[in-house]
Amino acid sequence: MFEILDKCLAGRIGKLYTKSGVIETPALFPVINPLKQIVPLSEIEKIGYRQIITNAYLVMRNFKDLAVELKIHNILDWKNVIMTDSGAYQLMEYGFIDVNPDDILKYQVDIETDIAVILDIPSRVDTSRIKIINDVEETLRRARRALEYLKVIDPNHKMLIVGPIQGGTNFDILQYSAKCMSKLNFDIYAIGSPTTLLEEYDFRSIIKMIITVKSHLPLGKPVHLFGAGHPLIIPLSIALGVDLFDTASYALYARDDRFIMRDRTVRLNELSTEYVPCSCPVCSKYSVKELKELSKQEREKLIAIHNLYVLHREIEEVKQRIEEGTLWNYLEEKACSCSKLQNALIELKLFSKILKKVDLETRGKVHGLEIITEIDRPERERYVEKLINNYVPPPKKVLLLIEEFREKPYTRNVLFKTITEKLRRMNLLNYVHIAFLNPILGVIPHELSEIYPVPQHEYSELVFEKCLEKSIDVLRRYLLKTNYELVIFLISDRYLKSKSIFRIGNRRVIIIKVKEIEDLYSITDWLTSLVKRIIYSMEGLLPSSQELF
Ligand SMILES: [Zn+2]
Repeated sequence: MFEILDKCLAGRIGKLYTKSGVIETPALFPVINPLKQIVPLSEIEKIGYRQIITNAYLVMRNFKDLAVELKIHNILDWKNVIMTDSGAYQLMEYGFIDVNPDDILKYQVDIETDIAVILDIPSRVDTSRIKIINDVEETLRRARRALEYLKVIDPNHKMLIVGPIQGGTNFDILQYSAKCMSKLNFDIYAIGSPTTLLEEYDFRSIIKMIITVKSHLPLGKPVHLFGAGHPLIIPLSIALGVDLFDTASYALYARDDRFIMRDRTVRLNELSTEYVPCSCPVCSKYSVKELKELSKQEREKLIAIHNLYVLHREIEEVKQRIEEGTLWNYLEEKACSCSKLQNALIELKLFSKILKKVDLETRGKVHGLEIITEIDRPERERYVEKLINNYVPPPKKVLLLIEEFREKPYTRNVLFKTITEKLRRMNLLNYVHIAFLNPILGVIPHELSEIYPVPQHEYSELVFEKCLEKSIDVLRRYLLKTNYELVIFLISDRYLKSKSIFRIGNRRVIIIKVKEIEDLYSITDWLTSLVKRIIYSMEGLLPSSQELF
């Protein structure tokens, strides 16, 4: 049984009940090699893990009847939850294994594993499309058979059973696989992820895979992502609705003297500091020099322990973020240190819509990407259409176009109030119309700044450049239908990144550039007197004698 306790985006905190105890999700299963385990299981428990995964095929080949006799928990000396894979990994690595799906399923029941995976056929990246289609069909056939067979060999349903979804980055096949598997009643669904995607930080493909699968699965079921064990991939996957992970990365990286850090990996010989910048017990105790001087085996073990600490903390951090409802902020924070992740977030169009597709009850705010949603959403289109076709601006000669302020509504901003008050005192409000420049909606006349959808939308700097041209295009169309004699722009550097701001039509334009729009505070007097001089010269008015000096 799976119970969902809290949610943020499509990520959730839950409880997965197994016969050896409850797993709090999201959870990571360290991969245990039953023959050569580098970190003792007691140490793994001490770090905070209450679940591990091992390979039933390797157990079968090496402990066959002994494991049936003693049961897997005694073989490994681990009283908490054990998940077993069926040998799909070996199948992927070596192309064949000498066991049939029924036997390995029965073996998992016999050794009393808590969570078993059927013997599926993973989709390799280098396989032909036809072969992948055949493999997916075969996995589906085995999946149906496994559920039938389990009624016989595990009639009380003590063991949880995992249905893997294959297809890899062949998204149409993956979708087909997810649709068919969702009709079968598995306790857990798993996404088979080609390891190359994870090694190359191909976040876009990972995102697409998770979304494709998640949008076809029953919401109440936990989802496992095979082979994902990096602090950049884990939070993103959780945000998209993945609950469980397994990884051997802690040991594989340690073999190459690589430390998993919260935003990257670092090799031991790249470290020029006295200590590894980490506060886990290993890094607190050993200096970099001491680690280098240890035997290879001892060092590998210590780095693996460090890696397990970092991964465990990552999961804990994400849980905390889900509880706080700040998972999106956390992803953006992570994206600052990894351009591939940043690009993946930017490219993730219609993010909130997709999350809603993944999970209708998506909670938490998708800062930043709402912009993209906004730009594609009918609200934005409707706003622009009304602005261009229906809105009639007041008959004023000068448009004072100010880059939008950070807070909304703009008209409540002190800067806006100061400028309008000064212009009012100078009797210039009859001549000057104030509007705001906004990267999503283009132009916002100040009278519209409290009307839906103006105050509601949000966006982040990440997507500003992507939308800049669209907003300038709205401005160009707006100016075409209006009769201002002069436009005064008050903009910061970021708008000048686009050269089209200089080509907005044959209107007289003055561009006043400030570093940041808030810097306008210091020049409001200068600005308003400039506006006054311009209007006076346009109108042929004479300044008062005081103003001549
Ligand atoms: Zn450490």
